[in-house]
Amino acid sequence: MAVPQHRTSKTRKRMRRTHFKLTLPGMVECPQCHEMKLAHRVCKNCGTYKGRTVVENN
Ligand SMILES: [Zn+2]
Repeated sequence: MAVPQHRTSKTRKRMRRTHFKLTLPGMVECPQCHEMKLAHRVCKNCGTYKGRTVVENN
């Protein structure tokens, strides 16, 4: 089993964790409703893509 040779300092741990973000990369704001959505996909909130309604959600 791999055993760490040195203890990770608070600073090193924190520096590593700066890379994990609250929102995933590839999340963009919807131009219609300003909700976060996945890039290149229809918005889940308002059902639009490229400025037109694709999915009607009632
Ligand atoms: Zn939207």
